[in-house]
Amino acid sequence: MTMAASIIDGKKIAADIKAEVREAAAQLNRERGIVPGLGFILVGENPASQSYVRSKGKACAELGIYSETLQLPQSTGETELLSLIRTWNIDRKIHGILVQLPLPSQINEQRVIEALDPRKDVDGFHPMNVGRLMIGLEGFKPCTPLGIQELLTRSGNDPSGKHVVVVGRSNIVGKPIANILLQKRSGANAVVTVAHTGARDLAHFIKDADIVIAAVGKAEMITGSMLKPGAVVIDVGINRIPDPSAKGGSRLVGDVHFASAVEVASAITPVPGGVGPMTIALLMRNTLVAARSWVD
Ligand code: NAP
Repeated sequence: MTMAASIIDGKKIAADIKAEVREAAAQLNRERGIVPGLGFILVGENPASQSYVRSKGKACAELGIYSETLQLPQSTGETELLSLIRTWNIDRKIHGILVQLPLPSQINEQRVIEALDPRKDVDGFHPMNVGRLMIGLEGFKPCTPLGIQELLTRSGNDPSGKHVVVVGRSNIVGKPIANILLQKRSGANAVVTVAHTGARDLAHFIKDADIVIAAVGKAEMITGSMLKPGAVVIDVGINRIPDPSAKGGSRLVGDVHFASAVEVASAITPVPGGVGPMTIALLMRNTLVAARSWVD
């Protein structure tokens, strides 16, 4: 009989991190009179974006973080948005600024990201922070990849010395997690392979992985038979697939075929309840770090 993998509980680990942030935020307030503040910019009426900003705002309230949301019409021009960012760049109540993407087509996303003060860029997308990450300097790192690193280290799966195969090279997940894990520091120090659609034999790389990080956006693409026995699997994917037996006629699955992978892996994240809850927790931590950095 094969042993089923242990489940890496993202909900529990995210709750632990939030509790740490709540405690540290209270201490910062007590000792220095500073309340961490996070500003959200939401342009247009995209329901998914509205719901993301709502849940991030709710997390702020729970953790003693001040938050403010600028809800702007779909027709907002780039110049207007840039000038609002400049106002928040010098606002002392706002330590972190999050521009919810995607933005309407008349606005150049890259120009908006580059208008942020890098010291307030809690999403870690400003080229200054991206570059600092690459050369191993302190700076803001994107929240989903930071969450993946925490899932590994807090579940006892230190990536040091391991072969990590990242499937996907997006700027928000694949590239930053690869850069985080290859740094020569604790909680990292892995040998990292980044695979993508250009890989001629994807299965060959995955078969050699001690840790697989799937950030592909393709439902259940990576199956148990592709894994090395005992591999650790982090499934970033969030895909909705039809399921007549489910409430609403659909359900969420990852990029990994869970039922087969759980029989081969030594540890695996579920979807939902794995990487998903981590992103907000790390956004809260980045905001706390931003607030502290104005003291030190
Ligand atoms: P993305 O921008 O669509 O990037 C997908 C990457 O996967 C690309 O680099 C693509 O390669 C690669 N890819 C696609 N099909 C492939 C295949 N058949 N073989 C090998 N590589 C393949 O996606 P993303 O933004 O990184 O997101 C990935 C998944 O994670 C999505 O399901 C998304 O919903 C989820 N996600 C979850 C969270 C969270 O939990 N908080 C956060 C972010 C994203 P090319 O570069 O060659 O096109």
